[in-house]
Amino acid sequence: MDVDKLSEQARSYPEVVLSKTHPFLCSEEGQALIQNDIKENGLDRVVIAACSPKFHERTFKKALEKAELNPYCLAMANIREQCAWVHMEENGKATEKAERLIAGAVKRASVIEPLETQEVDITQTAMVIGGGVAGIQAALDIADNGYKVYLVESSPSIGGRMAQLDKTFPTLDCSACILTPKMVDAARHPNIELLAYSDVTDVKGHVGDFKVKVLKKPRYVDEDLCKGCGDCAEACRMKDRIDNEFDENLGKRSAIYIPFPQAVPLKYLVDPETCLLITKGVCGKTLKCADACEAKAVNFDQKEEEVELNVGVIVLATGYDPYDPSQKEEFGYGVHPEVITALELERLVNASGPTSGHVEINGKEPKDIVFISCVGSREKDGNQYCSRFCCMYNAKLAHMVKDKFPDSNVTVYYTDMRAFGKGFDEFFEKVKSEGIQYRVRDLDDPIKIEKADGGVVVKAEGHPDIASDMVILSIGAIPKAGSEKLSEMIGVKLGDDGFFTELHPKNRPVDTAVRGVFLAGCCQSPKDIPDSVQQASAAAARASTVLGNGKMVLDPVIAVVREAGCGDCQICLSLCPFGALDFDEEKKMAKVDEYLCQGCGICTAACPSAAISVRNYSQDQLEAQIETLMGID
Ligand code: FAD
Ligand code: SF4
Repeated sequence: MDVDKLSEQARSYPEVVLSKTHPFLCSEEGQALIQNDIKENGLDRVVIAACSPKFHERTFKKALEKAELNPYCLAMANIREQCAWVHMEENGKATEKAERLIAGAVKRASVIEPLETQEVDITQTAMVIGGGVAGIQAALDIADNGYKVYLVESSPSIGGRMAQLDKTFPTLDCSACILTPKMVDAARHPNIELLAYSDVTDVKGHVGDFKVKVLKKPRYVDEDLCKGCGDCAEACRMKDRIDNEFDENLGKRSAIYIPFPQAVPLKYLVDPETCLLITKGVCGKTLKCADACEAKAVNFDQKEEEVELNVGVIVLATGYDPYDPSQKEEFGYGVHPEVITALELERLVNASGPTSGHVEINGKEPKDIVFISCVGSREKDGNQYCSRFCCMYNAKLAHMVKDKFPDSNVTVYYTDMRAFGKGFDEFFEKVKSEGIQYRVRDLDDPIKIEKADGGVVVKAEGHPDIASDMVILSIGAIPKAGSEKLSEMIGVKLGDDGFFTELHPKNRPVDTAVRGVFLAGCCQSPKDIPDSVQQASAAAARASTVLGNGKMVLDPVIAVVREAGCGDCQICLSLCPFGALDFDEEKKMAKVDEYLCQGCGICTAACPSAAISVRNYSQDQLEAQIETLMGID
């Protein structure tokens, strides 16, 4: 483009006092030039013809502010991305287009108005919903930054799925050894208040001032008195009669129990679904658990309790649910005892698991072991996404069973190998060199598992059948149950896959469309522990930035409704991606939440009565700009 020609042309417009060129306007020197010119010439509007406002609008606004000019008196003409870059081969036409863009921007500068920002208070407290490894990390980071955090966990202990794992890939370090210290740190941190066995029931308000209702479920055990000794569970009439969900129902527990030995908080609770007193109204002549408890902690009078908390930011870290493979009849899960899930194997190989680490199927050690990957992932008609951690946990578990049973034959049916993380591919190569057979499966041709003498037979298209005595299904991740309810309450949308959606996958990967709400871990998409922890720290950093010094500036470039014009159609309400519009029943008009509106303008475009517009992007202002750049002026 002929930049000098553009500058000369701009100088000819009646509104323009001064027109200059500079090779790096966003540099310190470039900004100083703008500031000096504003002061020396008493300028009241500035037009920058350069790159996209997405890159440097903020920089130039700051420059105006430093020169004591209202920062909203700035107009930008994007003559780089939208002109020079897209017309590389047509420099004559590019210059002509740039001329028009600049003319439009000059007109725009003359019609926009100075705007005032509003400073509002921020409650310097955070809430983290979900106490898996991601939620724990986010809570610890925010708390270390000096802010109070409520860590809300719906189950009786924090820890999430990681607590169920034996070892972790690719380093094979013990999962509990990494996780337990973090759980204890979270519980002891002076800035963290742990609300375990609690559900979020209502969220109102906006960034800086969310009002959250949390329901604390009754444990029927006084947390302050319980010493975690376990005498109650030993005495319980239902001792060893209830399936233990933490052990994937492979072990038993009492009706009064702790979820697992390293649980945090290490406080017993009564399971209301299996306790005889609660379900049948009578346990025995006496309450054995209460009698056994020396601390007198058992308390069946306990009621649920609702607390209302005021927080400035929220981190969602609600994780995932494992896919239920009984939906796929071809695998015979739940029919053939030889077919188990990878999570069940995690519990079986665990030294503190239900079998103390002994792996037996049908009373004998397995000899022919088959893993099947992508169960419930990468489906044509179902869950199309990749669950991202199962290729690697497959390799980990295959290595572990081969290590346990060196004479066994281990085969892995896989689609393709996704070993993308640090040290992952090296680990995969090592596993393959241990004599583990990898066979490519065809996702279009389902693998069938059928009953056979002494076990099952695994039939996969293009491969010889394998007689097997243990088949492990590498189940993927599905959205956590309850995500829809939470999405409705908080306003963060779910994607087509059912996981929470980030604001922008590259630029704002932990932010959401609801200002002040951030995402961490598998609630956003399936990911492994390193990625979950990294995302949690990123979410904590973003949350801490908002909590900052207790104040927040609201951008005035948001939608405003013309009272007389609004025709009550409410079209805009359903279209706003940020949930920023509501309906004022009294005035019978749309109203804008200034905390939630991001000034995107979707409502403006949709309004049939032109009653809603974004400040400094009103219909008149935009028309003036467009007519000028089209040469209609
Ligand atoms: P989660 O672990 O799911 O934790 C979420 C927490 O939020 C839970 O405690 C849940 O109770 C709570 N919660 C949910 N909803 C609510 C709500 N509404 N209110 C309050 N609390 C709520 N990764 C590795 O890196 N290495 C491995 O070796 C490995 N092995 C694996 C083996 C198997 C068989 C599986 C299935 C996964 C494996 N993973 C592994 C993946 C690992 O489990 C995840 O990366 C990790 O658990 C993600 O942590 P998270 O905190 O995001 O979610
Ligand atoms: Fe399939 Fe591997 Fe993706 Fe899991 S991580 S869904 S096993 S490709």
